[in-house]
Amino acid sequence: MPAAYDCLKCPGYCCSYPQISLTKADVTRLAKHFDLPFDKAEKKFTRSDYGRKWVMRRKKDTHFGKICRFFDTEKRNCTVYTARPSICRSYPNEKRCGYWDFLSWERKHQEDPDYVATTGSGDWP
Ligand code: SF4
Ligand code: SF4
Repeated sequence: MPAAYDCLKCPGYCCSYPQISLTKADVTRLAKHFDLPFDKAEKKFTRSDYGRKWVMRRKKDTHFGKICRFFDTEKRNCTVYTARPSICRSYPNEKRCGYWDFLSWERKHQEDPDYVATTGSGDWP
């Protein structure tokens, strides 16, 4: 059954999570993608936080305050799609995406197909 959400029309809520955890295999994949040694990729792309060894570094974003460092904030998409972490591959793990449902509802009621509804999560570290 097709997914009931459209990531290509979404501003990337899931990429604005403060805690995007990576496994060792995820860091290795990114290191290979950028042709970097593991330790360089680890330092450049990740930090230790939330009790996790590797969480994604973030950067500023107009809509959400901060977002994954690999997110293109103009085109609103992932710049490392083929090398993205496993958690990004599996999300949202089911046919529906709660963010998409929220966004669709707001766009309908604002009568604006491009409206970007925010949740205030931009204040997070
Ligand atoms: S929040 Fe949902 S619809 Fe938006 S990019 Fe992520 S998975 Fe796709
Ligand atoms: S790696 Fe790509 S899909 Fe995953 S959070 Fe970052 S921008 Fe989003």
